[in-house]
Order: sequence, then structure tokens, then C-alpha cells
Amino acid sequence: MQTEFRALAELCEKLETTSKRTLMVSLVAEFLKRLHTDEVEPAASMILGRPFPKWDQRTLEVSWATLSGLIRRLTNVGWKSFAGAFGKTGDVGAATKIVFEASKIQRQATLFEKPLTILVVRRSLEAIAETGGYGSRERKERLLQTLLGEATPLEAKYIVKILIGEMRTGFHEGLMELAVSKAFSVPHDLVRRAGMLTGDIGEVAAIAKVQGREGISKLRFQVFRPIKPMLAQTADAVDEVIKEHGGETAFEYKLDGARVQIHKFQDTVRIYSRRLTDVTESFPEIVRLTRDEVKASEAILEGEIIAVGENGYPLPFQHLMRRFRRLHYVEEMIEKIPVELHLFDLIYLNGQSLIADPYVERRKKLGEIAGGIPLTKQIITGNPREAERFLKEAIETGHEGLVAKKLDSLYTLGIRGKRWFKIKESLEPLDLVIVAAEYGYGRRHNWLSDYYLAARDLESGEFLVIGKTFKGLTDKEIIEMTKRLKELTIKEEHRRVVVTPRIVVEVAYNEIQKSPKYKCGMALRFARITRIRDDKSPEEADTIQRVRKIYEKQFKKKARYS
Ligand code: AMP
Repeated sequence: MQTEFRALAELCEKLETTSKRTLMVSLVAEFLKRLHTDEVEPAASMILGRPFPKWDQRTLEVSWATLSGLIRRLTNVGWKSFAGAFGKTGDVGAATKIVFEASKIQRQATLFEKPLTILVVRRSLEAIAETGGYGSRERKERLLQTLLGEATPLEAKYIVKILIGEMRTGFHEGLMELAVSKAFSVPHDLVRRAGMLTGDIGEVAAIAKVQGREGISKLRFQVFRPIKPMLAQTADAVDEVIKEHGGETAFEYKLDGARVQIHKFQDTVRIYSRRLTDVTESFPEIVRLTRDEVKASEAILEGEIIAVGENGYPLPFQHLMRRFRRLHYVEEMIEKIPVELHLFDLIYLNGQSLIADPYVERRKKLGEIAGGIPLTKQIITGNPREAERFLKEAIETGHEGLVAKKLDSLYTLGIRGKRWFKIKESLEPLDLVIVAAEYGYGRRHNWLSDYYLAARDLESGEFLVIGKTFKGLTDKEIIEMTKRLKELTIKEEHRRVVVTPRIVVEVAYNEIQKSPKYKCGMALRFARITRIRDDKSPEEADTIQRVRKIYEKQFKKKARYS
């Protein structure tokens, strides 16, 4: 007997109502134990809000317009009722449950249907993902209609959550590792490592169920299965890093591009982004380059792709992003936005994993097989002055800063540790004024937690928006901020309030971009609030003119894109 999907939905419902991690882990462990082997991976993926394993490149491609239209048609409720349910819960899945419950037709239909099982739901999701080409929208809709038509309100809630990829139960991948470890009595560190090697915890769970500890410890890398990259911590100064790394370290240029993991097996090359999505089609020239240059039949390499301007200087990150998005006219884009690959690590070579080898060894081997592909510029030193000069040189040639790598460090998959440090020249923070705010989602749906940040225009006196952020404040501060903003509200439009510009906040950011999004033509990238500046009045906040100056300064070091 197959396990019903209802059981999974009920489990998620329990997860949603508790925040006790140990209880969550036990509930999921018990659930996984009771499943059939072929249900383990689909269930684990779905509990995490994924239709498929993480390495799987298939996507559902179901738009919210399609989905919401279908929900309304199935339940026969008007747009207002659905919007009302959403307003009450702040969650699309929960709103779906409410309208499904309100619709009698739906309830009656499900009484006569066979219950949905975990495998039936997975197969439907596969069918939806595999539908492409002409008329696919209608076919996807029909498949969805069948699936949701057979669902109870509770099941519909979780199917919708999986479709949009957001569970919001608080049960994340780290907890899933603990649950798998508990369910199948495999030590937690082995489960973690296996998750990183295979790229999917669901698959690890299935292997753990059948083969136990032994099977899990035997897992190895596989080409074309991207793995979680090693990450770097932030450091403020080079001397701090040299000390932390034991008196001497390797400094590499930190390039401001996109990290890529390149997998090669004989003549086949695939490229994965930092988030492990397959981006091969966007970079045919990098595929050709790897095929021609890399002297290895099998390899997993890591590097940074950067966009370059006419004079060979790197272009701001946003230009590179255009290459990622573009799947049509790729060859044309190769000429318009040329990119360069710089390699910095070698993780796997001709059947051997190199993650347990020290950094210097990996880098040496990388140099031996890289052919004509450049490695990131590097120096090894214990002299802070020399490191400082190298940092300056990196910035002056248009790069972001440095990455310091401990000489004997192993490659720690997915871990942000002290073995790698990133050192950036920081941009000065800005003091900006909150001019509007939006209610958040999920837990934050009653709070004004998303803020529009503005700088004063000296010429017109107007406050012009240059960014938006929901990052930086604690829950307590958000609650307090909500109260203050409500008192300052001039106008309410749906879930947004426009306020009198009164509250000043200090904002850190990574870059100022040119952007048509706001009237001032600029936008902050990765803005986050670092402090509430109650000591400053809006008149004392930073001006658009200053923002523009900082923006221009960025360009002095970077090539202009025309
Ligand atoms: P983080 O991702 O926050 O750990 O910051 C490190 C990021 O810097 C990586 O993800 C890479 O995209 C990027 N990066 C640029 N140059 C290098 C380099 N030489 N070594 C490692 N990472 C680099």
C-alpha cells in the first residue's frame, strides 16, 4: 500500500504549528521510517518544498496567474474571497485551503476519488515539468486541474506550497539532515557529507534507508552532480587574516562576477551556478574553452566568470547578469558582453576527490591542467604591507577585493569557515529616510517589514527612493517600526503604506547600480539597515547628489559599458 499524500500534509501541518526543533526532527524521522523506499526521496523533497531533488534541473514553470486562475475556477470563488483569505493568512497555501473548504463542489468531488498518494503527486509534478513546447500552458493547466481536483483542502494547501516552492513550516535542510540521521541511525556528520556530495538530502535518505551507514560512507563525487561550494567569512583587515591563518596565507583577487562549478567528462562540459542550477546554455564559449584547454578526462573545477569591457577592465556585475538571463541569441550576446573565466579551485580529478588535499596542492594541480585558462591572481605572504598593496592593486584594477585562503586548508563543502576570508574595500554606509513600507509575508504579514529608502534631492527638495530592503532589523525593532510608521501613514495602497519622511536609517549596500526602477535612475544592491538613526533628522540624511558621487566613483575603477 502506497503512503497517502494526506499523511505528508498532516505532518507539515504539525511542523507548522511548532517551533521546537527536536520535536520537528522526531516527527519527520518517524514519518521517513514508515515510508516505502521509493517514497523516501519524493517525500523528503516535498517536505522541504521542492517538487524534485535539488540537483534535478527540471522546473515546473507554472505561473502564479495560471495557478490562481485555476484555484478560482475549481472552487468557484471570486477574486475578492481569495484575496481576503490571503490577507488574513499572508500565505498562498493557507488561503487555498480556506477557499477549498468554502467550496462545496470541491468537497463532494473528493469523497468519491481514490486518495492521492505521495508517488501519484510526484508523478503529476513530473508530468507538469516535462510538458513543454506549443500549447504547453493549456496542457500544464489540465494536469494541474486533475491534481488539485483530487485534493482535499489540506492537501491542496501543501500542493500549492510545493508548486510555488515555499513551505514556510520552519523545517529546513539542516533539520532534515538530523531527521535522516535519527530515522536510519547514521551519524549526523556522515549524513551531512553525503548530502553535499550527492547534492540532495532526499536521495541520501533513500540510500540510508536501504544501505544504512555503510552505503552512506561509500558515497563519492559524480560528475554532473553539482556540489555545495566552500564559502568565505568576511574579514575587515589583512593583518587579522594573516594572524588567523598562522602567520602566512594565500591572497587571491576577489573577482566580482559569478561563481561557477565546471564539470567535465571527456568532451562533455556542464556549468553550474553557485546555486547549483545548470547554466551551460548561457556560456557556450566557456564550454568550448574548457573542452579545448583543460587537460583532464574528468574534472570538477571552480572559478569566477566576469564580464569585461573594451579596455579589458571588468564590467559591473549587472552586465554579467544579462548573460545569465539570455537564452536566445546567445552567440550575439557573446560579442556584446564578452566574459572571462578565471579558475581558483580543483575539487575532483580523474576519479579522485581532492577535497582532503591542502589548498596549495589543489592549486598546483589546477595550474597543471588549466591549459591557457588563467588562474585568479595570487600571492603568498605573511607581510601585511605586501598584502595591503595587493588589495589596493586588486581594487585599482576594478576587482572587488581579496580572498585569503589558508595554505593547508581542505575544501570544506558548503561551509562558511575561517579557512577562507573575503576582504573588501567597503563603501561608506548611507543615511536614508523611510518613505514607504510594505507588510511582509508569513510570520511577518502583520508587520511593516519591507522599507523604501530615499535620499533627498538637493535641487527639488524631494525624497527620491533608491532602494528597498527587509533586511537588518530584529523582530522587536520591526514591531516598534510598524507602530511608528502607522502613525506617520499618509496613504494606504493594498499592502503598502506611504509615510511622512521622518525616520532615518543607516544603510549598508554592496554597490550602486544604474536602474530604471526608480525615478532617480539608481538603485542600491543588497541594501540592509545597519542602524536606526534617531539622532538624525531627515534634513541631515544623505542626498541624491552624494549617492551619485559614490556611483560615479565606482566607475572610475570599472570599465564603462556602452
Ligand atoms: P561568499 O560567496 O559570500 O562566500 O564570497 C565568496 C565569493 O567570492 C565566492 O562565492 C565567489 O563567487 C567569489 N570569488 C571571487 N574571487 C574568488 C576567489 N579567488 N576565490 C574564491 N571565491 C572568489
